[in-house]
Amino acid sequence: MQTFPLIAIPEYPVILIVAALLGLVCGSFVTALSHRLPRGEDFVSGRSRCPHCKTSLSARDLVPVLSWLMSRARCRHCQVAVSGRYPAIELLCSFLFAAVVLVASPFEPIRVALLCGLVVALLALSVIDLEFRRLPNGLVLFVFALCSVLTWLDQRAIVDVATGMVAVLVFGIFLRVLGQFVEKKPGLGWGDIKLATAISVALPLSTAPVFLTVGGVVALILAAWFGWRHRQRHIPLGPALCAGAFAAFL
Ligand SMILES: [Zn+2]
Repeated sequence: MQTFPLIAIPEYPVILIVAALLGLVCGSFVTALSHRLPRGEDFVSGRSRCPHCKTSLSARDLVPVLSWLMSRARCRHCQVAVSGRYPAIELLCSFLFAAVVLVASPFEPIRVALLCGLVVALLALSVIDLEFRRLPNGLVLFVFALCSVLTWLDQRAIVDVATGMVAVLVFGIFLRVLGQFVEKKPGLGWGDIKLATAISVALPLSTAPVFLTVGGVVALILAAWFGWRHRQRHIPLGPALCAGAFAAFL
């Protein structure tokens, strides 16, 4: 039975609220990152603009969730509808940050920061994969870097880590080739294989059941939605990998 010593910390509610608020702000960054990165735009210093009227957005347009509610889901300048996915991503990021803090046991600031960094990267990868059907190498490399530091903190044997990586890589390539034979299309995209390999760096074999269960359920939902309902041949599996990985990390 897992214990939550963090709850014994007097500042616990404050830490949780700060994490949730930080999650909202980082969720806003996820929406900007997932919009700009696939379009080759500068996501560090570039200013946020309305995609329709191109007006530069000011601070009052960029308050997570609140701006969207206050402007009644419309751009203040041109009145074009603003998708509900922006506040949804911000709220999800906030919830996941809070979840990371909730299960942090014991509370290690570096580990919590690394996991929150992974939340941002995995959320952005999921959104980009759903919209563009690809997983940018730069973000996958960032996931690999964070996972490497997590593994280093856990002091896992390098042989175990390398064996896990090779196993995932070989299994991924096997699924890809199998799909080519059975359905005449790759069973798994290279982006999915690279992301799964990067994630495997931080996940010991004991977390495989959680990863496969959560990832499998999300993959089935995606297959039902894109394959069955919308008759699409290419089903984005990135979100399934990201959901399985997040559950396993926790
Ligand atoms: Zn506008």
